[in-house]
Amino acid sequence: MHIADALSRDYLPCEPNDEVLMNQVHSVSSVVANNVENEYAVSTISDETLKQVINFYNTGWPKNPNLLSDNIKKYYKIRNELTVENNLIYYRDRLVIPDNLKTAILIQLHSGHQGIVKCKALAKNTVYWPGINLDIESFVSKCLVCAEFAPSQQKQKMIPLDIPDLPYEQVAVDILEFKGQFYLVVIDSYSKWLDAIQLKNKTSQSVIDVLQFLFSIHGIPRVVLADNNPFKSHVCTEFAKKLNFTIVSCSPHYHQSNGLAERAVSIVKSFLKKCLRDPKASLQTCLLQYRITPLAGLDASPAQLLMSRQLRSTIPVHVTKLKPSIIPNVKANLIKRSQISKDQYDKSANRKEIEFSPSDYVFMQNPLTHIWEPGIIMEKCTEPRSYLVKHTGTSNIVRRNVKHLKHNKSQLKSPVPYCTPVFMLPASETNVPILNEIPNDNDIEIPHNDLDQDLNQNVQINVNEIDLNLQRWRDQIRNRLERPPEVRTRTRVVKKPNRLNL
Ligand SMILES: [Zn+2]
Repeated sequence: MHIADALSRDYLPCEPNDEVLMNQVHSVSSVVANNVENEYAVSTISDETLKQVINFYNTGWPKNPNLLSDNIKKYYKIRNELTVENNLIYYRDRLVIPDNLKTAILIQLHSGHQGIVKCKALAKNTVYWPGINLDIESFVSKCLVCAEFAPSQQKQKMIPLDIPDLPYEQVAVDILEFKGQFYLVVIDSYSKWLDAIQLKNKTSQSVIDVLQFLFSIHGIPRVVLADNNPFKSHVCTEFAKKLNFTIVSCSPHYHQSNGLAERAVSIVKSFLKKCLRDPKASLQTCLLQYRITPLAGLDASPAQLLMSRQLRSTIPVHVTKLKPSIIPNVKANLIKRSQISKDQYDKSANRKEIEFSPSDYVFMQNPLTHIWEPGIIMEKCTEPRSYLVKHTGTSNIVRRNVKHLKHNKSQLKSPVPYCTPVFMLPASETNVPILNEIPNDNDIEIPHNDLDQDLNQNVQINVNEIDLNLQRWRDQIRNRLERPPEVRTRTRVVKKPNRLNL
């Protein structure tokens, strides 16, 4: 393959029609062009630019390239590395592709769904046109199949929790499942005091019973950080209202956003595992040991931070250690600890914050299959890095963390069904026109946003009407999210949703 290159660079003082040279070039080009030589030759001489390139190749390039068109200038720069034979042009050992065959070549280069780097490498060994690398980048980045199976997003920088001023002012809760048993794990943001109590089952009422028990000991916190299920249920929301505390939920399927509860769960899980191996140990013993052990960077135990006293255990301790005393500078030390954790975490995090706007086309990662599926951003949620997204295939509205979202440059729809709806909205009720850009004109042509339906159908709608519709729809979605349906299975809503009044 390098023969043509060598020939073009180190040519002998002979005419282009020299028989020996032509035979050598021919033997190379025949291999490159394979058995579709004719098609490429016909297209090459039908291509205005390439026709001129051949002409200049045969008759000589002009000395002043300024008079040449931009397209020809691109070939002028590489004129010494071009070879023409049988109406085919070669750049070094790469066949130059005419305009009308570029798409077909891009499809072939990407037929194995390799990434951008691999496709460029393949092209570098076979075909060429000016700007081919950019075209490959654009083509591959728009491939829906590759988008669906793209790797997960890099983690985002840590958003540290607000450090509360008081003990048991803010707690994080989560449910741990271990060997078929459920445990409610509750950790205090201030003292890191940890409770783990076995639940009768995973229902809202069972969770409320345990919370009531804990609150009777520690008092009612102001804020409870919780995963969505079942803490966002109607029963739990009513319970929170009654006791005057707020439930702040993390994004569905992105439990890391409730990192404190996640850590607490992993601590309790390791206790339970070790208790299984050591019959002398019990969960309660493990919890007591944890509660009286000083926290890193604080020199005080969770018990001292929460109760201002150390707890007596089976380990001998001087009586003065058990006397109540206030630990100083707790908040300052907690902030310092939090900053150290953040710095460590952020070292491997994505430096750039990912943002979306309503009506942005996106891919969202299916939490079960990890496949990226197309959607449209509807609304930014109040929770950090959280968005309401409409799945363009099923019209379901779901909430997703930016960890599971990325921009969709191709704006394509996916045939892959999405099977874990949170709220089922019939497609006919969700045909709200969405615009990528709203021109200044009052009357504008709007692409139909429901990609499941006729893609070519255009509608004439007034901008004000769109804004009104969007606002009404968002209000209704928000209401619906705040008022969850009454009957639910694990992943599917059974109750028929109210019709949207659009
Ligand atoms: Zn692909």
